[in-house]
Amino acid sequence: MLHVSETLVPRSRFPVIDAHTHLSSVAEHKKGVAFGEKMRFLVEPEDALAVMDRKNIRIMVDLTGGVGAGLKSVIRKYHDAYPGRFVVFTEPWWERAHQPGYSKFQADQIERAHRAGAAGLKVLKTMGLYLREEVTSGPLVKVDDHRFDAMWEACGGLEMPVAIHTSDPEAFFLPIDPTNERYEELSAHPDWSFYGKDFPSNRELLEARNRVFARHPQTQFIALHVGGDAENLAAVSEWLDRYPNMHVDLAARIGELGRQPRAARAFFEKYQDRILFGTDATPGGVQTPQQLFTEKLYEIYFRFLETTDEYFDYAPAPVPPQGRWKIYGLGLPEAILRKVYYENAARLLKLTC
Ligand SMILES: [Zn+2]
Repeated sequence: MLHVSETLVPRSRFPVIDAHTHLSSVAEHKKGVAFGEKMRFLVEPEDALAVMDRKNIRIMVDLTGGVGAGLKSVIRKYHDAYPGRFVVFTEPWWERAHQPGYSKFQADQIERAHRAGAAGLKVLKTMGLYLREEVTSGPLVKVDDHRFDAMWEACGGLEMPVAIHTSDPEAFFLPIDPTNERYEELSAHPDWSFYGKDFPSNRELLEARNRVFARHPQTQFIALHVGGDAENLAAVSEWLDRYPNMHVDLAARIGELGRQPRAARAFFEKYQDRILFGTDATPGGVQTPQQLFTEKLYEIYFRFLETTDEYFDYAPAPVPPQGRWKIYGLGLPEAILRKVYYENAARLLKLTC
């Protein structure tokens, strides 16, 4: 029964780089680990461009560009076909992580990916939660395992930012019962829970990741999903203060930020040079439900960042998926909007425009 104003923001006030999208995916996965070079294209570039032009998205960064020949096919299809509109990241060769000589092989592959046109490296939460010593079996491989040091260093040397997703919402590490604030979501996707078994805690995962930031100060890291702990901005702020090479994106976390609008606004003011706009979107084909969903999702992100509207859904209808709450807009000033929408990502990606 609450009567509050509702601002429709069909286009962002300034051009946007969506630094976190998924336009492609490695075709084969076993137990959360990508195998092989074969890719699936999740959206035709023309269909993505239609959404981008309507919503004022100048560039989409496709984080999951795969490896080897698959990576090349993704770069051809998006980046080369539409210059200036798509950026593609490569990924680690997880399936080889148990082989002798992996460390050097992986560093060499980063260099090859760079030559092929990859702009950065994406590390999925595979690292820490799925990758095991025998790839899909044995003990979990730690995020700060030294076999990856050469990979982080190669990225630093080539000025390729590393977009790293570590851990997941705190609620995913707690029992799935009605006291869990994401009960409906976890009930619908019980495989998203990392409660029990041999999983490390959320805190252990993030601390291992932070040791990687500390060990590779020349490498720029984008800690995805608000640094992996959007529920705890005090902790994320402490890490940003400690690691000058750490940045964050907003992808799939405006639900968390928007339920603490005063702390979130202070966070944006303090770290305005280190926050990237991202959504986790896959735009889908013309007029499909997926495409309509994506357009609505962009409108909600813009409304959250640009307006001071109160108490609205953080995701399109029917039911916001992540928990039983609503969000409040931040009403960010122009200078911060420009940085978050475009300039911070442009700087990290070495774009000249
Ligand atoms: Zn993502």
